[in-house]
Amino acid sequence: MAGNRTFTMIKPDAVKNGHIGAILNQINAAGFKILALKYTHLSAEKAGAFYEVHKERPFYGELVEFMSSGPIVAAILEKENAIEDFRKLIGATNPAEAAEGTIRANYATSIGENAVHGADSDENAIIEGSFHFAGTEIFG
Ligand code: ATP
Ligand code: MG
Repeated sequence: MAGNRTFTMIKPDAVKNGHIGAILNQINAAGFKILALKYTHLSAEKAGAFYEVHKERPFYGELVEFMSSGPIVAAILEKENAIEDFRKLIGATNPAEAAEGTIRANYATSIGENAVHGADSDENAIIEGSFHFAGTEIFG
């Protein structure tokens, strides 16, 4: 299975701006199959734990506050070469640098409020997927 799965979140800005449907549609249109899906609201504690790897970075507090500011959509996705292809689909972290047509170019508003998360390795996709989903909530 490793290599074929990634983990994503539609972040609070994109949820608030009404883009859940359009983003899921773009994900499906790019060939990703949804194996797990959840609409939820992270507490500051959970958001802090999810982004623990960024703890020492100057924007950590801001990131945790933003990610717990409203509901998010979490999903596990399946496609060949999932990690790399999904990072290509979402575009650069800073939407000003994201390629045209990418999800962040389409829907992100700033480097902090950048519409979507994408796992950066097979290992992290598994850790992040398990953080949000029980085995019985993953179909595939
Ligand atoms: P993500 O992990 O959410 O997919 P990424 O891998 O493109 O994003 P990271 O370097 O992992 O980028 O940063 C995680 C998140 O932290 C970014 O998506 C963004 O929301 C926030 N972030 C990153 N850099 C900055 C910054 N300079 N200022 C404010 N927020 C930032
Ligand atoms: Mg990252």
